[in-house]
Amino acid sequence: MQKEKKIRDVFLKNEVEFKYFKGNILNEFQEVTKNDGTPFKVFTPFWRNAEQKYLSLPPSKNYIVKKRTKVISFFKNCVEPKSILPKKNWYKKFENYWKVSENDSKKVLSSLINDKIKEYGSARDFPSIEGTSKLSPYIKHGQIHVSTIWKRCNEIKSKGIGYRKYINELGWREFSHSLINFFPEFLKGNYRKEFDKFPWVKNEKFLKAWKSGMTGYPIVDAGMRELYETGWMHNRIRMVVGSFLVKHLRINWTEGEKHFRNCLLDFNKANNVAQWQWVAGCGADAAPYFRIFNPILQGEKFDKEGKYVKKWIPELSKVPQKFIHKPWEMEMKYQQAINTIIGKDYPKPIVIHEEARVSALKAFQSLKKN
Ligand SMILES: Cc1cc2nc3c(=O)[nH]c(=O)nc-3n(C[C@H](O)[C@H](O)[C@H](O)COP(=O)(O)OP(=O)(O)OC[C@H]3O[C@@H](n4cnc5c(N)ncnc54)[C@H](O)[C@@H]3O)c2cc1C
Repeated sequence: MQKEKKIRDVFLKNEVEFKYFKGNILNEFQEVTKNDGTPFKVFTPFWRNAEQKYLSLPPSKNYIVKKRTKVISFFKNCVEPKSILPKKNWYKKFENYWKVSENDSKKVLSSLINDKIKEYGSARDFPSIEGTSKLSPYIKHGQIHVSTIWKRCNEIKSKGIGYRKYINELGWREFSHSLINFFPEFLKGNYRKEFDKFPWVKNEKFLKAWKSGMTGYPIVDAGMRELYETGWMHNRIRMVVGSFLVKHLRINWTEGEKHFRNCLLDFNKANNVAQWQWVAGCGADAAPYFRIFNPILQGEKFDKEGKYVKKWIPELSKVPQKFIHKPWEMEMKYQQAINTIIGKDYPKPIVIHEEARVSALKAFQSLKKN
């Protein structure tokens, strides 16, 4: 709010009109509360109320934004566009994956409505198919407003399970924003304070292996490489890599949050912090810490044929389906025959799943003794 006040003062001083509008959310923050005025901490009742609240608002007019014909001289010398681009042009490769404009966001939305939303409920969990909207970077950068997405979704005539599931995901976004606005301390640390005593492990070697997609668990490594290459990662895989960091490696979720913040094109403080705390089990309405994803089974369930893994880990391109999520189990003579030596061409697992799981549960139990 202080930032807005500063901007307003500069505008007013220069006789430029200034108005406040809603941010890129459906309901204004702090608009949705229980009857007694206290905030919701659980998603389902929050979203039931938030949807009702939004639907009860008068429909927004179809604004036509008129462009000014005259250039406002006040802006002329303010920012030189080139001066705000990074010095290293690391961002160039993103142009292979993203078309960045408001018009493109509309095309992406149309593709969701016409081709994807019907099957969204089932397709959204499989990273090798484009079953999700991929609208998040456009929402983040303000090229599309969530109310535009909502409106198009609601114009669909036969609204099936896919529609409902999709709208719910927008609901999680609203919920994250509501949480951080009611509980700003959420942004600084564990929402559930008992996690302040969690015995996290500091291990730079493991953290580096995780960041660079070299943990030896193909589904984790494929996700981390997709993130680094494209600035985006599939939601199912965000959950898998997040769980691996905080449970298998027992590294504090704040490290994962920081890495995602640095790499995600759709980075959004509310979503990122709330989702990392959801994964770690220390957030509001979070996945319990003791529910530990098995990265081998997650891979076999959601990337059965290993298409996603092979796309991002070319070293494993010759590994047969049976071993694609546990390549270390291939016999040495077979590894030699396909020219893929585990431990040389691709790393051995940095931790053993069963052992890591037991240690994580022990660490979690120690919280109860405190
Ligand atoms: C550890 C972790 C960190 C995350 N960090 C971010 C982040 O920084 N920014 C971000 O936008 N999303 C984040 N998410 C949520 C989710 O992964 C992305 O929103 C989604 O993958 C974006 O792809 P999409 O647009 O194709 O999603 P779709 O499946 O098409 O969903 C539509 C929209 O709903 C919203 N949405 C979907 N899932 C979630 C969710 N679980 N929580 C909140 N909003 C959601 C997004 O705005 C998304 O664009 C994170 C999830 C995890 C597990």
